[in-house]
Amino acid sequence: MPDTPQARDTSHFWMPFTANRQFKSNPRMLVSASGMYYYTDDGRQILDGTAGLWCVNAGHCHPKITEAIRRQAGELDYAPAFQMGHPQAFEAASALASIAPAGLNRVFFCNDGSEAVDTALKIALAYHRVRGDGLRHRLIGRERAYHGVGFGGISVGGIAGNRKHFGSALAAVDHLRHPLDMARNAFTRGLPQQGAELADELDTRLLSLHDPSTVAAVIVEPIQGSTGVILPPVGYLQKLRTICDNYGILLIFDEVITGFGRLGTAFGADYFGVVPDMITCAKGLTNAAVPMGAVLVRQDIHDAFMDAAPENAIEFFHGYTYTAHPLAAAAAIAAIDVYTSEGLFTQAATMAPLFEEAAHSLKGLPYVKDIRNLGLVCGIELESIPGKPTTRAFDIFLKCFWEKNILIRTTGDIIALSPPLIINRAQIEQLFEGLGDVLRNI
Ligand code: PMP
Repeated sequence: MPDTPQARDTSHFWMPFTANRQFKSNPRMLVSASGMYYYTDDGRQILDGTAGLWCVNAGHCHPKITEAIRRQAGELDYAPAFQMGHPQAFEAASALASIAPAGLNRVFFCNDGSEAVDTALKIALAYHRVRGDGLRHRLIGRERAYHGVGFGGISVGGIAGNRKHFGSALAAVDHLRHPLDMARNAFTRGLPQQGAELADELDTRLLSLHDPSTVAAVIVEPIQGSTGVILPPVGYLQKLRTICDNYGILLIFDEVITGFGRLGTAFGADYFGVVPDMITCAKGLTNAAVPMGAVLVRQDIHDAFMDAAPENAIEFFHGYTYTAHPLAAAAAIAAIDVYTSEGLFTQAATMAPLFEEAAHSLKGLPYVKDIRNLGLVCGIELESIPGKPTTRAFDIFLKCFWEKNILIRTTGDIIALSPPLIINRAQIEQLFEGLGDVLRNI
């Protein structure tokens, strides 16, 4: 990075959320990256325990992805994807469909996870209309869900802080409980055994609060990631699927985090053996090298728009200037090729038991009150400090970064780890030993 006053001037960039407040007093500048590592402006090598923000699944600056973007930038920088097309858009959709669960073979591209969620919710509402079932307007999400920052996403999401500044957001939205139950499941390795019956709440609510024929869609993250790695109990997602089927309600999986190998399979849907009607994804889609999101849609949902009866036919009035942007599409084609040709999903599955073992070795350390893991993701929940819920975890994050050269992520009192799928045994040890040392001495 050029060591110029401009490069260090932090007075103009409004960082996402309110990060400026703590960054100003303790700046952490990442200037380059390669494979499992970030490099800082003071020349340190930082082990990336979070794949950026759960997104750089193939490791940083993968040469095939970098080269695909470079080539595309010199060939076709931009082309609209409506009223005309460009080959990369179609090729990227085919590549994505080729690794999607069976039946989800139509792809709507957008630019990130938030847009993917809002796109999927709009497809759900419009789908019922084109079939002459326009009464279905309700959407159901869950408490503690994170579905991005669009108005649709914050409405079905279950984070009060995401909603309280922006009015009431979408009406006709309800939320199920989240399935975290530490009293019964603390320190479970892999999926919690207890709690599948929590899914029955959907049935109860449909019958007691809402006429089920007014509900358009239910949206859940297979694993609630950003709010602290909350895993679905064994059988829970299957139950949601059955209940949605019983009432003709669409089931959407938000796989922005669980997509592209995080659980050792292409999608969480594959891992859980539950196929939703739509999947939202982003992040790993391009290995995060260029922003892109997508909604995978069941073929017949797509066809309902194309073949609608004349009295119901509507244009699906939705799309973006950058839908299937050529650079993003080129990055997605290359990333999916890397994932499949290098066997990275299988590699993640192979490393998962080692990762689990290392994660659970932190049990018994000061303040650790739960450890949750699946595939290459884990959450370590700490006891909170009354009145100061985020202080301790954030302190641990800073110590890991400055003293151990490892990057972890914190959300409230929870530490989340989600390394690139290429992590090896020595790096898993470095990550958890570093974190363990910090926890021991906090
Ligand atoms: N859905 C889920 C499940 C997510 O985890 C995220 C981001 N962490 C989003 C949506 C929003 O994605 P983006 O930040 O790309 O808009």
